[in-house]
Amino acid sequence: MVIFITKFIIRYKIMETYFNCKKLLGFGLMRLPMKGEEVDLEELKKMVDYYMSNGFNYFDTAHGYVNGKSEKAFKEAVALRYPRESYLLADKLSSPFFNSNADLEPLFQSQLEAAGVDYFDFYLMHAQNAREFIKYKNCQAYEFAFSKKKEGKVKHVGLSFHDSADVLRDILSTYPEIEFVQVQLNYVDYNDPTIQSKKIYDVCQEFNKLVVIMEPVKGGHLVNLPQEALNLLKENYNGSVASLAIRFAASHKNVITVLSGMSNFEQMKDNISYMKDFEPLNEKEYELINKITKVYKMSHLVPCTGCRYCVDGCPKKILIPDLIATLNAKQVYDDWNSNISYQKYTTNNGKASDCIKCGKCEKICPQHLEIRNILETISKKFDN
Ligand code: SF4
Ligand code: SF4
Repeated sequence: MVIFITKFIIRYKIMETYFNCKKLLGFGLMRLPMKGEEVDLEELKKMVDYYMSNGFNYFDTAHGYVNGKSEKAFKEAVALRYPRESYLLADKLSSPFFNSNADLEPLFQSQLEAAGVDYFDFYLMHAQNAREFIKYKNCQAYEFAFSKKKEGKVKHVGLSFHDSADVLRDILSTYPEIEFVQVQLNYVDYNDPTIQSKKIYDVCQEFNKLVVIMEPVKGGHLVNLPQEALNLLKENYNGSVASLAIRFAASHKNVITVLSGMSNFEQMKDNISYMKDFEPLNEKEYELINKITKVYKMSHLVPCTGCRYCVDGCPKKILIPDLIATLNAKQVYDDWNSNISYQKYTTNNGKASDCIKCGKCEKICPQHLEIRNILETISKKFDN
């Protein structure tokens, strides 16, 4: 009984923090409007104003997003322009930026400073999987985050997750203080045996955790659907292509927010048009999703989400996600543009055939892609 009441209080507290935003659309700051190499701050401010004026207020960033420019862009577009209590900010403790417990405090302080805030509403152990969890435990990173919560510098501690349901169960059993879990969930991967979206979501329910959903459109794949799937959607659904995917994610219970990486104003306007007065999916729409998923799976696209986690560590500087996108485009459209794209991406960077098969990229890929094999396929299609 005591445990039940404690769990209820924890959930109530986090929902109380969240109460101010109520709406289910989070502003993911992983992909931002850009002008060349720099964030287009004027466009971002315009988007932020529109987002906030429509009653939304959840922002999600990380120290490494947009080559370290995301937190700073948040500061310019939000922190310096809106009262602190008017928005909620989620930031993350990311593995590439620390190697020991002693690194955590300076990193945390630099994040607060970069984002222009003196506390985070949500602080996540970033991209947790079995291997990263060992590192985070060894560095006492979870304990560090809980201590920041005690200091009032963090309101709620959670994690973002990229591994199997069993690994999540292990993490949540080890650290029951975790309040929420950020999971990748989209309709084509829902029952996928590798991604395990549904199983992972079910573990969150089993442990009574609230959920943040990321990658609802699978890094853009569920917007740029294969033609046959697109036809099916257009004939049977009135909303935009993205809206079906985002509404699918948001229809799950105990979801705090669904993150959408909105990189231009049009995407934002579209997202807000159907999320402002959110309607969960109905039975006919679920049936449509099943049909689209079947068609999608038969198109054999490589399910890379474009997160770019694999790029920095590649010793041959291969632009892995761009080459995969080129392969997918060739698969769907079979046009000569793909060959031009391939040339563009390999002029100053490695070709697919330059891969030395070190496997570094596969260790970090949250989609568990067999990148080395995929690059062999790409090489056969594009390297002459
Ligand atoms: S396996 Fe190939 S693509 Fe992956 S990191 Fe190594 S060289 Fe780069
Ligand atoms: S290959 Fe994997 S790690 Fe690299 S961008 Fe795609 S999904 Fe992300």
